Amino acid sequence: MVIKKICCVGAGYVGGPTCSVIALKCPEIQVTVVDLCKNRIAQWNSDKLPIYEPGLDNVVKACRGKNLFFSTDINTAILEADLIFISVNTPTKTIGNGKGRAADLKYVEGAARMIAEIAQSDKIVVEKSTVPVRAAESILKILSANQKPGVSYQILSNPEFLAEGTAINDLINADRVLIGGEESPAGQAAIEELCSIYEHWIPREKIFTTNTWSSELSKLAANAMLAQRISSINSLSAVCEATGADVSEVATAIGLDSRIGSKFLQASIGGSCFQKDILNLVYICECLNLPEVAAYWQQVVDMNEYQKSRFTAKVIQSLFNTVSGKTVTILGFAFKKNTGDTRETPAIHVAKTLLDEGATLKIYDPKVEEEQIYCDLTHPSVCESPEKVKKAITVYQDAYSACENSHAIVLCTEWDEFKTLDYHKIYHEMMKPAYIFDGRKILDHKALIDLGFHVQTIGKCLQRPLLTRFCGGTSCMH
Ligand code: ADP
Repeated sequence: MVIKKICCVGAGYVGGPTCSVIALKCPEIQVTVVDLCKNRIAQWNSDKLPIYEPGLDNVVKACRGKNLFFSTDINTAILEADLIFISVNTPTKTIGNGKGRAADLKYVEGAARMIAEIAQSDKIVVEKSTVPVRAAESILKILSANQKPGVSYQILSNPEFLAEGTAINDLINADRVLIGGEESPAGQAAIEELCSIYEHWIPREKIFTTNTWSSELSKLAANAMLAQRISSINSLSAVCEATGADVSEVATAIGLDSRIGSKFLQASIGGSCFQKDILNLVYICECLNLPEVAAYWQQVVDMNEYQKSRFTAKVIQSLFNTVSGKTVTILGFAFKKNTGDTRETPAIHVAKTLLDEGATLKIYDPKVEEEQIYCDLTHPSVCESPEKVKKAITVYQDAYSACENSHAIVLCTEWDEFKTLDYHKIYHEMMKPAYIFDGRKILDHKALIDLGFHVQTIGKCLQRPLLTRFCGGTSCMH
């Protein structure tokens, strides 16, 4: 079978960018991305795409209407496709068995049932969504139980390793592509078909093929190892603050060891999109009766939570242990720079804690829509009284108005534009003493202290020479 048409079920952060790049690199293949959500598809077909990713606009503009289509006509796209990506969401279960930890596979199952109902010819079905190990088995069971005569399926696992904020570059210059499938001849043939798509731009030696379960587990394992690195450096940041060491210097020093390497050693406020995958891994380990392994990975999640609450506690403590009646500015709401995604953002934790303590919040993020911020902060898991929360927060369109008359700034996302703000102007328009809490370690702390700010960050004690300033730099002796 030569693949001429691809259908991608799910037009989200994974499906949208991945299929846009496939369309760009494979002009002879027709790629149709479908979604149940009409609004999302309308946005993909408009000038304002539903997700922000640097470079994505150009890729979509180059291919849309030629060999890339966004549609709600799921029937036609599945009927015509030779290969179907399942790129639906796999959130953490909120009810029932495994609540708060296990991945909810209802959307994957829904997609599999749709395919089974619609398909009239052989299909290669590729799970792209991050799923628990052996999820492909469930997909196969659903497809085989509803199989029409003469229709056969091959299920492949092809997890996506892109990082939000750098998705287009990650897709075009992927470190590796991983494809898992059955060891049978039909399974191997399906793997080859998928390889041939990636080989349009990825060198063959970077395409790694495995059995299905290794591929599924590798995605969870990669995210777990990355999260563990961040939790490790964050745990050391607490030691730095207590001892006078500087976590940036420690990170550089240990990163120079080629066995450790320098990447992904940046301490910060915590919070990451890995959480749901690690919790899923913990749940799988418990189900497999591996409690020690589960406890090991659980600690990685716990350290991430600890970092968020440690930082927020520091904010409150510095503001004389009360923020009630005070105004605090939150700079950055996305979970990282260069994305508008707010899932598992530390800003929600910070905002919730400050709101619970009675603060009024002024919030600014360059890419997160106002509606999304209200939606996140009034979610039942975050607040009991949405009306009260709505009254206590205001979302601004620029950083300067968000900082005016505030008692403190809490920087939650490392957007580049926050590095070059006019902090002199900001200082003069704030309440005094003026505080900045740099949760991402991106600001020039010495310059801020010189301007008069009280500055706190992660993994480093910043001394403010109070007396010297007070005495105008001359001797304090009278
Ligand atoms: P991810 O970050 O994994 O890409 P998103 O939540 O951004 O997840 O996107 C998943 C998309 O999948 C959503 O737009 C959702 O509407 C869509 N979706 C879920 N189930 C189905 C389905 N059965 N058919 C089509 N689209 C679906």
